[in-house]
Amino acid sequence: MGTVTLDNLRKEFDNGQIVAVDDVSLDVANGEFITVVGPSGCGKSTTLRMLAGLESPTSGRITIDDEDVTDVHARRRDVAMVFQNYALYPHKTVRQNMAFGLRMSTDLSKEERNERVRETAEMMGIEDLLDDKPNELSGGQKQRVALGRAIVREPDVFLFDEPLSNLDAKLRTTMRTEIQRLQNDLATTSIYVTHDQEEAMTMGDRIVILKDGELQQVGKPKDVYENPANAFVGGFVGSPSMNFIEVRATVSEGTVTLEDDSGRFVYTLDAADYPDIEDGDHLSFGIRPEDVFVADTGGIDTVVEVIEPIGSDNYLYLDLATDFIARVDSDIEPETDDTVAITFDEADIHLFDAESGESLT
Ligand code: ATP
Repeated sequence: MGTVTLDNLRKEFDNGQIVAVDDVSLDVANGEFITVVGPSGCGKSTTLRMLAGLESPTSGRITIDDEDVTDVHARRRDVAMVFQNYALYPHKTVRQNMAFGLRMSTDLSKEERNERVRETAEMMGIEDLLDDKPNELSGGQKQRVALGRAIVREPDVFLFDEPLSNLDAKLRTTMRTEIQRLQNDLATTSIYVTHDQEEAMTMGDRIVILKDGELQQVGKPKDVYENPANAFVGGFVGSPSMNFIEVRATVSEGTVTLEDDSGRFVYTLDAADYPDIEDGDHLSFGIRPEDVFVADTGGIDTVVEVIEPIGSDNYLYLDLATDFIARVDSDIEPETDDTVAITFDEADIHLFDAESGESLT
């Protein structure tokens, strides 16, 4: 079993001048794979370190399997952490590195420990490395050993702190799949911190998005992608990012008209569908690049500034707003400086309060 609960977890540094984690609450189900993502400094590592017992919270509680572990020493928590820099003992062999945690946390006999290490090494494909020292291994092999060392302990919860950041792009993709496969097989609750939104989206059963220590949204990747709670989440999740245009709303005769400062962007909606929008409201209009449709005529006219082919699709940079991108089929090939007309399906648009960022759709 490995349910995890964070209850109003808070961490301050420097006598409260830095709030690294700002009253975060979260329930993680047994066997769930949770990814925690956000920009640098948003409190991801501090949250994970508190879970591991490496940092003590300023306030709030941590529960693992119904046991309040907030004040329990790291070594007595049934969690195993995998670090970005592998944190292997340089003078011990792979076998000794893997067996060390077992010796500290279980009362298995030496033979039983050796057998568990051998089985895990086989599972990880590192049985040939058991007598090597860490400095004889590649980055990918070291991370495999670090994973093996966590797995061999059979903990209730795995904690991953950006474990793939030091690997090259290709290896990162391979290891990503491998970790998912292992987690599927072992069904061990996992909390995985990354700054890479794509990693978070592809790996997590649910994704947790933090900003400035505050929880922004928790949900299944697809739900978060389709229904971001605020403009920050909308912009953070998805690549290329959601396009935003700052607009003012005019509500008149049952219609909401959204218009940007230049008057080039005008979009109308049925007021009955948007009861929260008031006349004069400042809004941020959001649309994902793949939801921008391009035609020759019959929409909002805009000029193509740059065309970026990515193989199956083309990215068109349009002069409607800064970094406004349409992701279109590769057979749509306008020339630079051509004028095209863009349209949107109303079901795909996102509206956010310009001030608070909160979603209105
Ligand atoms: P990164 O992706 O850059 O690792 P992060 O999201 O993991 O960032 P944390 O490392 O948790 O963020 O840091 C959150 C905030 O707390 C930052 O402002 C950081 O400077 C601060 N912080 C973290 N540890 C300490 C510490 N020991 N003393 C003072 N401030 C700290």
